[in-house]
Amino acid sequence: MKEYDVIVIGSGCGMNIVEEALAHDLSVALVDKGPVGGTCANLGCIPSKMLIFAADRIAEIQEARKLGIEAEIKNIDFGFIMERMRKSVHENHEHMKQGIAETKNLGFYEGEGHFIDDYTIEVNGEEIKGDKIFIASGSRPLIPPIKGLDDVDFLTNETVLQLKERPESIIIVGGGYIAVEYGHFFAAMGTKVTILEMAERLVLAEEPEIAEVLKKELGRRLDIYTNIRAEEVKGNELSITVIATDSKSGVKKEFKAQRILIAVGRRSNADLLRVENTGVEVDKRGFVKVNEYLETAKKNIFAVGDINGQQMFTHVANVEASLAADNAIHGGKTKMDYSAAPHAVYSHPQIASVGMTEETARKTHKVLVSKAKYSEVAKGEAMMEETGFAKAVVEADTGSILGFHIIGPYAPILIQEVIDAMASGISIDHIQASMHIHPALTELVPMSLINLNDADS
Ligand SMILES: Cc1cc2nc3c(=O)[nH]c(=O)nc-3n(C[C@H](O)[C@H](O)[C@H](O)COP(=O)(O)OP(=O)(O)OC[C@H]3O[C@@H](n4cnc5c(N)ncnc54)[C@H](O)[C@@H]3O)c2cc1C
Repeated sequence: MKEYDVIVIGSGCGMNIVEEALAHDLSVALVDKGPVGGTCANLGCIPSKMLIFAADRIAEIQEARKLGIEAEIKNIDFGFIMERMRKSVHENHEHMKQGIAETKNLGFYEGEGHFIDDYTIEVNGEEIKGDKIFIASGSRPLIPPIKGLDDVDFLTNETVLQLKERPESIIIVGGGYIAVEYGHFFAAMGTKVTILEMAERLVLAEEPEIAEVLKKELGRRLDIYTNIRAEEVKGNELSITVIATDSKSGVKKEFKAQRILIAVGRRSNADLLRVENTGVEVDKRGFVKVNEYLETAKKNIFAVGDINGQQMFTHVANVEASLAADNAIHGGKTKMDYSAAPHAVYSHPQIASVGMTEETARKTHKVLVSKAKYSEVAKGEAMMEETGFAKAVVEADTGSILGFHIIGPYAPILIQEVIDAMASGISIDHIQASMHIHPALTELVPMSLINLNDADS
């Protein structure tokens, strides 16, 4: 049996660990069933944002009317937009595969691995043993048990990328960030989009007032139903019918579309790894349990990225991977800190958020909150941005920012100043004291910190 210092399962954020271990002359095995590079590069962030970039341009052109610009979009080449994305993803994938093949001292096992013993993995019929094992095997689409779903050709975030022709209409089951991002994309392409969300609002992780603005704004271009549970799916390659029940009235409704996209969340890949054959424990959702050093219940087995179910975003996964590598390889004792972990939703309007929501913060802190609209700063007014706003959640005694939330244009860029402040422990006084370019949207951040008050919003 081949023995390694380090085995890494998963080539998404796991590549950070591979590089670190190789840089320290350790023998390393990488196990990945493909596609090499993981979800973000092949099936998630990158392809979806390439598509959404085109959708944003379309939405901007359509909205230019409010500025007195009457523009006409003559043609949207869906095939070209999809192919540009596929070509780029394919090239990056090939580049990565070549890089792995050429890496010295790396044993690459392309196949699905599983534990057969505490520190032993079987892959492609071969057994390998590692002193230290990093589980970075990610997540996959969660497919809900809806009657009839298996009998129709439903799309997921994976198969949607293979579409060659624009669907005339699509039902999206789910209202989280993947659902609203693809909802925005398809609506911009000219597809009739219907979103069916079981919860009372879209994007449940966000502030309720952000979800409200999102529903109102997206609702101009998409049909959005919340509090509705998809219960049965029927159909063929020409037409899909979804039978759903309104959870408030109990009334059954039928929705029809050419295609259906399932985007109800993610499930852990820990089952594929058969972690039950080790001392590694999983929570009730199947995600691998870790302590604050990202070590599993089994010594020298770490779990990073989506597989531990903490905050399932690439930037978080990469930080976790570096931290776990440091703890495991260099004997560090650093705790993972999620307090300034941000995320973005590339819907239209865009959303960005970092730290706690007001509701969460109030459970453990004395808080002050305040908001500012884009239209309160000169650039926002120039842009005729009417609904976007920023909300600050601040600790009353210290002035430390506990959470910050933006909905509106460039939200993922605007929030970076706050992320930096939170990560380095800087209080709101420093943000307010530093000069902000006038007129620029960045003035929204200090503006949103002016009227802090302790009223429940
Ligand atoms: C549609 C979509 C859009 C997204 N957009 C964003 C975004 O804009 N920004 C953002 O930050 N995040 C985004 N995410 C989330 C992001 O993609 C994930 O958080 C990130 O990819 C997780 O990385 P990871 O390394 O944990 O897992 P992955 O990148 O999924 O890597 C896991 C790898 O392990 C392999 N594997 C699994 N089980 C086994 C096994 N038993 N044996 C061998 N190999 C195995 C998998 O095939 C995969 O290659 C998006 C996700 C989706 C689905």
